[in-house]
Amino acid sequence: MRKIGLVLAIGVMLGTSIGCYRLLLGGLFAAQAAAPISDQQEIAIGQAGVEQILAKPENRLYREPRVNAYVSEVGGEMARQTGRANLPWQFFILESPQKNAFSLPGGKIFVTTGILRSMDNRAQLAGVLGHEAGHIGARHGIAELKRALLARGVLISALGDTPMAGQIAGRLAAELVLRGYGRQAEFEADELGATYSSKANYDPRQLEIFLSDLGKSGESPAWLSPLETHPPIKERIERLENFIQKKNLGGSRIEAIPFKADMAPLGKND
Ligand SMILES: [Zn+2]
Repeated sequence: MRKIGLVLAIGVMLGTSIGCYRLLLGGLFAAQAAAPISDQQEIAIGQAGVEQILAKPENRLYREPRVNAYVSEVGGEMARQTGRANLPWQFFILESPQKNAFSLPGGKIFVTTGILRSMDNRAQLAGVLGHEAGHIGARHGIAELKRALLARGVLISALGDTPMAGQIAGRLAAELVLRGYGRQAEFEADELGATYSSKANYDPRQLEIFLSDLGKSGESPAWLSPLETHPPIKERIERLENFIQKKNLGGSRIEAIPFKADMAPLGKND
């Protein structure tokens, strides 16, 4: 906090000063654009982001042991494929009719009861959780956060790993996550979701089927279009199908009947 305040103050001073200082500031930011955020920082940011999200009264956790255990189990299977199994992965269910799923840096993934109710089988859940795990595996949230911090004049090295710095960045991360990560990141997350699914022997085409069903539902589900940054559904499905064919991905697990039994506490499908 102290460090960030100081850097912000210096930023304001330099920003309002004469040309050579601006040059210096530009150089510092250029160097910072490439600065890594450590796993430790990322975890603190993600944890703070989760706290921000859960502090909002409209975000209530759905607590039903069987459903929560099921989601965490499938999520864990996807997390193990990311190459970042060391992160403290956690899977939260929000009570909401909105069909949504999103992720925060550091291994934190949220799904709503609404999106769970609209799924037909375990492989579709794997695909959606795989997509979100893909954002974390490919550090999309961190890249977005770095851009946002730089735009606000905060030097990344100044973040340190103090809890307060994590809080500030976490608040920002919690805001950013609701906007989605842009077209290329979404395509990449779809591909990673299908790849992880296939590696865990799930049918990767169930993600395509789920996307297509969501698209056909006539509403505009939050997962498909957070503020329009997600690409059109048709394009996502086409690109995903090409990718699955090119990489020759496949898997035999679909598991519709056990899925429905375990999701029964959620109530009827919409
Ligand atoms: Zn996404």
